[in-house]
Amino acid sequence: MSNYWSDMVKRTEPYVPGEQLNRSDIIKLNTNENPYPPSPRVKEAILREMDGQLQKYPSPSATPLRSVIASHFGVTEQEVFVGNGSDEVLAFSFMAFFHQHRKIRFPEVTYSFYPVYAKLFAIPYETVPLNADFTLDVDAFFHSEGGVILPNPNAPTSLYEDISSIEQILQKNPETVVIVDEAYIDFGGTSAIELTSRYDNLLVVQTTSKSRSLAGMRVGYAIGNPVLIDALMRIKDSFNSYTVDRLAMVAATAAIDDDAYFKRTTEKIVQTRELAISALQQVGFTVLPSKTNFVFATHASVQAETLYKQLKENNILVRHFNAPFIDNYLRISIGTDEQMEMLLTTLRKIL
Ligand code: PMP
Repeated sequence: MSNYWSDMVKRTEPYVPGEQLNRSDIIKLNTNENPYPPSPRVKEAILREMDGQLQKYPSPSATPLRSVIASHFGVTEQEVFVGNGSDEVLAFSFMAFFHQHRKIRFPEVTYSFYPVYAKLFAIPYETVPLNADFTLDVDAFFHSEGGVILPNPNAPTSLYEDISSIEQILQKNPETVVIVDEAYIDFGGTSAIELTSRYDNLLVVQTTSKSRSLAGMRVGYAIGNPVLIDALMRIKDSFNSYTVDRLAMVAATAAIDDDAYFKRTTEKIVQTRELAISALQQVGFTVLPSKTNFVFATHASVQAETLYKQLKENNILVRHFNAPFIDNYLRISIGTDEQMEMLLTTLRKIL
């Protein structure tokens, strides 16, 4: 720690993502990336944009991407915000809607970026324990002091909560903002976006990183009442009025426009996931019912950390968390059929 550091830096505990070993001999199932490349239209759009546009600043209001997202979800452009990955959208949302003297709530086991942002922006928080089966204790989110943030489906548990529960949480927090982080919603859940027209305190955050295969491009977005979007725009403009660059903007536009490709690849991932769940069960794992592009699994006789290390020695990366309640679980991203077969073959050898 340095004397030069501000209090903000001193209290920060940076988020540590899964290892990024991009060697071709590694099967990388540790950061929930999509195993398939983005729609071929993405490359065409990027090449077109590179042809004479890059010397110009991008649109400060992120038009036309916001209008493409708006028409895709049947809302207006004033109800859409875009940012540099949903991580940035979430960071701006913490700044825009949560307060330094009112505790926010999020699940005890959840996306580990939330406590990082809360500490960074000096927002007090309390965590809500999950039920024994890892489902949400919905009532425990009622009457929060400073707001609620939760992912649906939750990460890393992969469990999806019906939107009727989200609606109850909204009804019982009329004075504060409820952020629903839907990074994995396209793999089997129903989005809460339809509730935004009735609840002006709901902000739904999604990403192009998972179901649209654009993790490398960094485009996330939020949908909510124009009053909430206005607040996010103010925060964004205070940092950088050009949050999303030209290539990211046209790439995301092309990916969102290609619904047929999106449907084909997400359906394939869901099919591979269900096969992987049965195969993992057959070798002794208990696997939570997943609505995401990953599974959360624990083995009856071998410790998760041991399995993680042995898989790594075999050039297969999965995610293990040294954290309370989940340290005997592995989070395994769904890859191609071939990658999952390699994983299973290696697990059979280890076990
Ligand atoms: N929310 C959750 C629950 C996630 O797991 C992730 C991916 N790590 C994100 C948000 C952020 O995704 P991105 O910044 O790539 O949009």
